[in-house]
Amino acid sequence: MRILIVEDEAKIARFVSLELKHEKYDVCCSADGREALELISSEDFDLVILDIMLPGLNGLEVLRRMRNDHNMTPVIMLTARDSVMDKVSGLDMGANDYLTKPFAIEELLARIRALLRAPKPQTSHEDILSYEGLVLDKTKHSVTVDGTPVELTVKEYGLLQALLENLSVVLTREQLLEQVWGYDYFGETNVVDVYIRYVRSKLENVTAKRYIQTVRGVGYKIG
Ligand code: CA
Repeated sequence: MRILIVEDEAKIARFVSLELKHEKYDVCCSADGREALELISSEDFDLVILDIMLPGLNGLEVLRRMRNDHNMTPVIMLTARDSVMDKVSGLDMGANDYLTKPFAIEELLARIRALLRAPKPQTSHEDILSYEGLVLDKTKHSVTVDGTPVELTVKEYGLLQALLENLSVVLTREQLLEQVWGYDYFGETNVVDVYIRYVRSKLENVTAKRYIQTVRGVGYKIG
């Protein structure tokens, strides 16, 4: 398993790198956001540990550009900042997990193990998923309703994709968390309800059709 550590504080980078090598991971380090992004787009990593405050490009921007390029490598954000906004924007941009410095190395190792064994999202080989005018094009990473584009964030898009890939199947909140977030970082599932609300309200802006159905006490489905 190959892990990229993006961290400009040399002491932390060296410490984490030594610990990961001790656990038999193949480790690569970068201290600069722009350089890290180049590494991520030119080489294969199984996981990226990404600091937020970085020279070159900050970690949130690195993450945003990765996900824009459809690079879904798991990312653990690592940062000294502990504001709720950072956490929300990191997770919303597609970070899989979040650790605040100072952290215990055992906790980082546990989260790495959890992410590396998390089931890969179930994906169909169809490039275009659709249901009654709602079209999700995986090659363009776009969503339209009767031809009108709908702008979704990474997680909102992931939710819609999971529901469309399982047409008429009720997905539980746990299943959606697992498929879209990769792993249950909140320890509770109401984050799914929040994101379903976001997706619904964006769809309602362009259509009167109600695509996503709530199955009370169970979860959600389309169709
Ligand atoms: Ca830093």
